[in-house]
Amino acid sequence: MNFKVNDKNKDLLKIFAGGVVIIVLCLLVCLVHIIDIRVTYRERALKEFNNYLEIASQVIGNELEQTQLVVLSAKESIENSEKVLNDTNIFDLLMKYGALSSFYKFEFINMSKVAFYSNRTSEKIDENKFYESIYLLEKNKVHISENIQDTEGNPLMVFATPCFRDGEKVGILIAYQNTDGILDASSFDYLNGLGSTFIIDREGEILTKSASVAAEFQENKNIYDNIFDYAAEDDANALTVAELKQVLGYRESYSTEVIDNDRNTLVMAFHNVESVDDIYLSCFFNENIIEEQTLPVVFRSVLVCLIIILLMIIVAIIIWIFLNRTRRTIESLAYRDPVTGGCNSNYFIDKAMEILVDNKEKTYIIQRMDIANFRYLNEAYGHRRADQLLKICNDCAWDFFGSEDLFARMNSDQFVSLNECDASLDRRRIQYWEAVNQQARNIGIKYPIRIKFGVYQVRSNDLDLDVMIDRANVARRSMNGTETNPVTYFSTSLIQNMHKVDRIQSEMATALETGEFQVYLQAKWNTLENKLSGAEALVRWIKADGTVVYPDDFIPVFERNGFIEKLDFYMLETVCKLIQEQIKLGYDMVPISVNQSRILLHNPEYVQNVCNILKRYQIPKGIIELEITESLFFDEKEKMISIINELKNHDINISMDDFGSGYSSLNLLKDIPFDVLKIDRLFFSESITSESSTWILRKIVEMAEGLGINVVCEGVETKEQVEALQHIGCNYVQGYYYSRPISAKAFFEKYFEEENEEELSGCVG
Ligand code: C2E
Ligand code: MG
Ligand code: MG
Repeated sequence: MNFKVNDKNKDLLKIFAGGVVIIVLCLLVCLVHIIDIRVTYRERALKEFNNYLEIASQVIGNELEQTQLVVLSAKESIENSEKVLNDTNIFDLLMKYGALSSFYKFEFINMSKVAFYSNRTSEKIDENKFYESIYLLEKNKVHISENIQDTEGNPLMVFATPCFRDGEKVGILIAYQNTDGILDASSFDYLNGLGSTFIIDREGEILTKSASVAAEFQENKNIYDNIFDYAAEDDANALTVAELKQVLGYRESYSTEVIDNDRNTLVMAFHNVESVDDIYLSCFFNENIIEEQTLPVVFRSVLVCLIIILLMIIVAIIIWIFLNRTRRTIESLAYRDPVTGGCNSNYFIDKAMEILVDNKEKTYIIQRMDIANFRYLNEAYGHRRADQLLKICNDCAWDFFGSEDLFARMNSDQFVSLNECDASLDRRRIQYWEAVNQQARNIGIKYPIRIKFGVYQVRSNDLDLDVMIDRANVARRSMNGTETNPVTYFSTSLIQNMHKVDRIQSEMATALETGEFQVYLQAKWNTLENKLSGAEALVRWIKADGTVVYPDDFIPVFERNGFIEKLDFYMLETVCKLIQEQIKLGYDMVPISVNQSRILLHNPEYVQNVCNILKRYQIPKGIIELEITESLFFDEKEKMISIINELKNHDINISMDDFGSGYSSLNLLKDIPFDVLKIDRLFFSESITSESSTWILRKIVEMAEGLGINVVCEGVETKEQVEALQHIGCNYVQGYYYSRPISAKAFFEKYFEEENEEELSGCVG
């Protein structure tokens, strides 16, 4: 069966909520990590970008300065040499200085517009505005102008300087250098080659550029125009070309960003090329490249995050499965009854309160059940079979009391159920009882199973479940197992009764030790000969204060708690002691019967114990008679026959007590070898009032006598009854008419001391 625990779903919800929180946290961590990666990458990119800019400007500056120095040296030679201007000398000079730097071309144009080249060729050139403008520039400087291309289309950088001698113009020196060299020297590579680099003059004209140029740049267009074209109209940060020029005028380096219409950001920086005036290194990169670069890292991070989440989910599932199993085991340990496999009291208590609280509008009863004489069943059939019986009780109860409501075993043979009040309960109890008996027979338990039900009806203001269960139990305990109705409802008077029972139980052991249990004897009378024929020993509990407690008040309690065994042996022994004393005093004893509880007969050493006592007190044969109630014969006929035979083998007489009070059967008379039949008081008093019953009684007496069984009638109170019995043929009676039970001392004084005088003789066994 499954034990339903409330909090299970709540726990699941908690675990789920916890899982969601952890996943959200993971995603947040992942997001923060991604942002961090991007910020770090951006910072790293900017750092790399700025480093590059600084180093490149130094390297390029050095490179350009070297070139300028070569050009200046050549200029100096031209200006200082007399002979330099003749063809041979100028060629030599151009070759010499041309070789110092790897110029693509080195040329000198004299005032006659003849150009001399380092490859020793010369030519007359056209008028050119450019050359004139050279003279307008500073005399002792090498000017770098916008690039041109060689015959193969490769960009060339032009270095030009005017040459003077004695203040007179003598020509212009022009060096063309392949920009590849410059680019190589500065190893134009940053951000994995995704940035663009330009060497520009102050006007923004591109002198040279890196191999890779961002798509947004037009290579032949002024750099400022490029930026201007790129910037979105609403980009508040974008500087105008004039502003940019102005800034570069007074700053060595400057960096800014422009945003285009698609919100792409172009990061740019300008750095003055060291040692060379008005030449700038300008670098650009589109921020998108950071994104592109971080994309694999971001992808990896997301993947790692997802793997972690997945692992966590797997771990959470494993933990959940494990916890669930552990919980089920714990629940099973805590809530499962190991004997029946059903619920135990813990489960009942947990669940019952919940049902009562959740269903306040309904009316419930709490029912305590137990099996009458379970102790005997345990001894008679063994623990294994008795456990099987408990399981049967549980399984059947589940069919009749537990499927909709609640049913559990409390302990031993005690069960408890919580049921909604309805008219079918009485029927269900009977069906339950029948089902248990049916299945008990199937496992070989022939003894009829009686189940006692104690019922407490839950009231709306009841709060304490333990009290309710206890009250049902009080109702159950109030039964002694002989009731025809197996159901008792709780009432407050039962509690008083319980207290009485508790008091009896707490005092019984001491009472036995201090001799508070005393033997009373009631005479059995031979009406034919009008003399004493025997006596019955009846216990009286005479307390220290003199109060007398009668057997009906405590025998059922002792039968339930097993104390009866001690009491019965005590009574037998005391009676034997009394008989021995009387014999020693020289009296002829009449047979004295002692009541024996059914519980006693389950003791395997019973017969032996009885014999030991009789032997110890040297009781003559036939003097002690044992009374066993009729119901026992009915319930356990086979067992009874064997015990009675054993007792008879030791010459102990047996009488069947209370014949006619229960399920009397005439068959018993022939089947069981007892010596005396004691007709129950009520059976006899009813019998003599109707003719047909008198006839039955007469037949019983005849049949018994025919079988050699003596018949004693109990409870004879009047002369008429004595006469009626004599008429029937029953000549042995016991009752108040002749004598009430009196103390043993009084009995012996009354009958034996009188006997001396009146010579009582003739005893009936
Ligand atoms: P029982 O064995 O059937 O004993 C007869 C009972 O009937 C006695 O009740 C006796 O006092 C009562 N009685 C005798 N004559 C009359 C009469 O004329 N009218 C009425 N109304 N009652 C009469 P008591 O002594 O109260 O005992 C009750 C039962 O308790 C006994 O019934 C017996 O079953 C049980 N009992 C008594 N002493 C012992 C004992 O030592 N051991 C065991 N196991 N049971 C005992
Ligand atoms: Mg008796
Ligand atoms: Mg009796």
